[in-house]
Amino acid sequence: MTETATLTRSAAATTEHFDVLIVGAGISGVGGAYHLATQQPGTSFVVLEGLENFGGTWWMHRYPGIRSDSDLYTFGYRFKPWVGAPIASADEILKYMGEVIDENDLGKHIRYGHQITSATWSTPDRKWTIEGVRKDTGQPVRFTCNFLWMCQGYYRHSEGYTPQWEGMDTFKGRIVHPQTWPQDLDYKGKKVIVIGSGATAATLIPAIAGDTAHTTLLQRSPTYFIPGRNENELANTLRELEVPEEWIHEIVRRKVLFDQAAFTKRAVEESEAVKEELLAGVRAFVGPDFDIEKHFTPKYRPWRQRIAFVPDGDLFQGVVSGKASVVTDEIERFTEKGILLKSGQELEADIIVTATGFNLSVLGDIDFVIDGKPLNFADTVTYRGMMFTGVPNLVWVFGYFRASWTLRADLIGDFVCRLLGHMKKKGATMVTPTLRPQDKDMPLSAWMDPENFNPGYLMRGMHLLPKKGDKPEWQHTQDYWVEKDEIPAIDLDDAAFVYK
Ligand SMILES: Cc1cc2nc3c(=O)[nH]c(=O)nc-3n(C[C@H](O)[C@H](O)[C@H](O)COP(=O)(O)OP(=O)(O)OC[C@H]3O[C@@H](n4cnc5c(N)ncnc54)[C@H](O)[C@@H]3O)c2cc1C
Repeated sequence: MTETATLTRSAAATTEHFDVLIVGAGISGVGGAYHLATQQPGTSFVVLEGLENFGGTWWMHRYPGIRSDSDLYTFGYRFKPWVGAPIASADEILKYMGEVIDENDLGKHIRYGHQITSATWSTPDRKWTIEGVRKDTGQPVRFTCNFLWMCQGYYRHSEGYTPQWEGMDTFKGRIVHPQTWPQDLDYKGKKVIVIGSGATAATLIPAIAGDTAHTTLLQRSPTYFIPGRNENELANTLRELEVPEEWIHEIVRRKVLFDQAAFTKRAVEESEAVKEELLAGVRAFVGPDFDIEKHFTPKYRPWRQRIAFVPDGDLFQGVVSGKASVVTDEIERFTEKGILLKSGQELEADIIVTATGFNLSVLGDIDFVIDGKPLNFADTVTYRGMMFTGVPNLVWVFGYFRASWTLRADLIGDFVCRLLGHMKKKGATMVTPTLRPQDKDMPLSAWMDPENFNPGYLMRGMHLLPKKGDKPEWQHTQDYWVEKDEIPAIDLDDAAFVYK
C-alpha cells in the first residue's frame, strides 16, 4: 500500500486511488478516519460524504430541540473527553466532532458533496471501483480503493418514513417530517399535532410547545421514558477534585456502562419491577391523577425498543403546564382541519408533524457488484454484523441500539486497523468472510430477532438485511459488554477469514 494516492485519467472521468475509502462523515466515518490516521499511519485514505458538512445524523436533523438520547460520555469517542452535560444538542455534538477533525488534521481527507451510487469489486484487480456524483457540479466521480469502510449509517438520509393515511391530500395545513424539517416553518401560535411517541417526539414537543397555541402528541401506543437530571454527579465530583478530563471521561464511561449493564439485566430478569420503576418516574412529574396506564404504559417489556431519556422531565412538564397534551388513539383518516381518530374525536391542526421514523437503508442505497454479479446483501450471512460472506475487503459500521452507537464504531475502528495490519504482514490483498466447514449446516435467520429488539424501521426493512447464524461469529449480538472483549480478541487467522 502506498502513502500517496495515485491519480490516473480514464475516458469516463478522473480516477483516484486510495488504500482505504470511507463512505460517510458521520460520527462513524470521522471516527474511522481518526483510527486509520493514528493506528495505520502511512495508509492513504479518503472520506466521501454526500452532504456538505460532517456530522451525518447531527447535521441533517434540524428540528427544534434535536439532541442525543444517549449520554455523551459513551456516545462520544473513547479517545476524546466529553466535558459538557451528558445529553447534548446536535450543535454541541457537531462542535465536538469538528474538534476531533481539527485536532487530528482529518479535514484534508474528507470530500463533501460526493454522493456514491455504485461500488464494484474486481478480484483480478483486488480493487473496489466507487462511482458517484459531485453534487455541486453534477460531475461524475470515480475512485478505486483496496478496502471499503462503510460508515453510511442505517437509514435513508433523503427522506423519513411517513405512513400513508387516507385523506392526507385534503388536509389544508402543512405536513412535515422531522428529518426534513422546513427551516421556514412558523409554528408560533399554531395548533400542532406530533404523530409518534419515540425520542424525536419527546425532544421536539418540549422545544416547540411553549410557542404554539397547543401541541398534541398523538400516539397509537406509548413508549418508555426515563426522566432524570441532565447531569452526571460522578463527573461533577471528579471535576471538583480537579481530576484531569481524560480520566474523568474514562471513569464516567465505565460507570455509565456498568449501570447500563445492570439495568439491561434487570429489564430482562425483573421486567415487571423495572416497568413499575419507569412508570413511577413519569408519575412523579405528571401526578397521580394523570392516566398513566393509557398514555405512558407500553405493551412491550422495557428495553425491547430504545428507552428515551427525558432531561428534567421536560416533556412531562409541558403536559402538566397544559401547553401540550397526549392522545392515545388510532388515526381513522386525515380531514381538511386535522385528524379524525378511530374513537370519533377530531383533532384540529395547522401543522401535522409525522415523527414516524426512518426508512432503513442497507449500505447507503449503493448498487454493489462483485465480479460482475449484482450483490443482494440479503443473500449474505453477516460476520459479527460488520462483514458479509462473499464480500471481500469491506466492513460496515452498524452500532448498538441499546448502548451508544459510537462504542461499536470505536471497536470496529480497532478491528479494521488490526485487519489491515494483519493483511500487510501476510502479504494478502483480499480477505473474504466465508462460512467454515463447521458452519455448513448452521441455521440461518433474520438479522435481528424481533423478540430481542423490534423498532418499526427494522421490522419494515428486515428482508433487506443480511442473515445471521446461531453462533456469535455470525451475528450482530447487540451486546457491547460481550463484544468489548470478543472483538479485540478475534483470531484473524480463523478459517472464517479467507485471504488471497
Ligand atoms: C434524531 C436521532 C437521534 C439519535 N440519537 C442517538 C443517540 O443518542 N445515541 C445513539 O447511540 N444513537 C443515536 N441515533 C442513531 C444515530 O444515527 C447513530 O448513533 C449515529 O449518529 C450514526 O452515525 P453514523 O456515522 O454511523 O451514520 P450517520 O450519522 O447516518 O452518517 C452517515 C453519513 O454517511 C453519508 N452517506 C450515506 N450514504 C452515502 C452515499 N451513498 N454517498 C455518500 N455519503 C453517504 C450520509 O450523508 C451521512 O452523513 C440517533 C439517530 C437519530 C436519527
